Amino acid sequence: MTTEKPAPLPDSIFEELAIHRDPDNVFHQTMEHVLAASMITELPHHQQIILAQPNNEIIVQFPVRMDDGHHKLFKGYRVQHNNALGPYKGGIRYHPDVSLDHVKSLATLMTMKCALVGVPFGGAKGGLRCDPWNMSPGEQERATRRLTTALSTQIGPEYDIPAPDVGTNEQIMAWIADTYQQMSDGADQQDNKRVVTGKPVCCGGSLGRTKATGQGLVFVLEEAMPSLGIPIEGMTCSLIGYGNVGGWTGQLLSGLGAKVQAVMDHSGAIYNEDHLPAQHLFEYVGKNGGVAGFPQSEPISTEDFYSLNVDVLIPAALEQMIGPDEASLINAKVVAEGANAPTTPRGDEVLMERGVEILPAILCNSGGVTVSYFEWVQNKTSTTWTEAEVDKRLRSHMTEAAARVRSAAGKYHCGTRIASFCAAVELIGEVYQVRGVFP
Ligand code: NAD
Repeated sequence: MTTEKPAPLPDSIFEELAIHRDPDNVFHQTMEHVLAASMITELPHHQQIILAQPNNEIIVQFPVRMDDGHHKLFKGYRVQHNNALGPYKGGIRYHPDVSLDHVKSLATLMTMKCALVGVPFGGAKGGLRCDPWNMSPGEQERATRRLTTALSTQIGPEYDIPAPDVGTNEQIMAWIADTYQQMSDGADQQDNKRVVTGKPVCCGGSLGRTKATGQGLVFVLEEAMPSLGIPIEGMTCSLIGYGNVGGWTGQLLSGLGAKVQAVMDHSGAIYNEDHLPAQHLFEYVGKNGGVAGFPQSEPISTEDFYSLNVDVLIPAALEQMIGPDEASLINAKVVAEGANAPTTPRGDEVLMERGVEILPAILCNSGGVTVSYFEWVQNKTSTTWTEAEVDKRLRSHMTEAAARVRSAAGKYHCGTRIASFCAAVELIGEVYQVRGVFP
């Protein structure tokens, strides 16, 4: 694929949006990608500015009784970026660093992902500023039920459907569904479990949802790597993050004969020249909270981790982890982005200059929302699909999305990242073109 850079964006569009451009702001970075793609695909000006900003930004604050009896005030966010293609859809993150701009960036990326991977949803994201790893299950439950109550008029099974993200899981989705259902009219109560996806299977979740983001990434790699001359069997890889996305990606790749040689997370970086046993490592992280101290490995420094000569580096932790310094160390042939926005624009430039192939995040991590859509459809039609059926459908969405990115890169002579945004905004632009703008 070509790696030509798009032309710089004019300042006039930022002035029109009253935005003081900050190159380090993660929302501004995302917006620049959307605007660059909107200009390359020649969307009319009004569509460019619609996509540059979210439709709705909701902030709620509420008290929660903590286990020691004191009340703590929590701040929650829900940002609904765009619903031209269908109901708003996007995860809820529990993390101490959650901020409005952070959530705006993630909501915008959700709009792009849904359009790219061909699911009829718009983009949204939510966040609760908290430290879930230092909250008891009771505190998490009370905070979740209060958050759901505070957002109850802003979410709904046909309007805005949350899902898990960093710091949240299927248990939290079950509490959201239950709270929302308890607040519903009798006739709608059962159907209203569709208000969230990523639920436990016994509560209406889909088979294959927990591993879906990792599985989607693996399907993209299966499609892309052979054409780069790297077969999956024997392929070496390193991962940043070994939570839901990283852990499942590592296990599934190992199952296909790839070698996970190194993993770095918040607790440190570990290496095994032959390969790390991916499943044992996942169980170890589940028990110990991080990869540090895993017996069948040696600790390595952050610099050594980034410098490893592997076929694929998979960032699957947090945003903005690969800046220019990290990018200049990277010796991987391919960076396949499991996390949202893991590479900064400067990091991106360095990777492109160094000839590293980038498989962009809105392609690689869209498996989660795709299987969330499958869960929503199964709930709506009172059906249950087998895991094999879910995987088959997921593979087809991922393979088609990868082909659309490739085709956009050829058509617009741009790198894969901007091409992935071009493929997404093309579809949304078509919808606005046909339906017009009210009134
Ligand atoms: P998770 O909470 O399960 O795992 C996060 C991982 O990041 C953990 O291994 C943690 O140790 C690691 N981490 C945190 N801080 C770190 C640091 N400073 N350095 C290195 N590692 C660090 O979260 P997840 O669900 O796996 O999500 C990971 C990324 O994938 C996020 O960007 C998320 O938005 C994105 N994503 C998740 C899904 C999903 O279905 N879970 C879907 C699409 C995108």
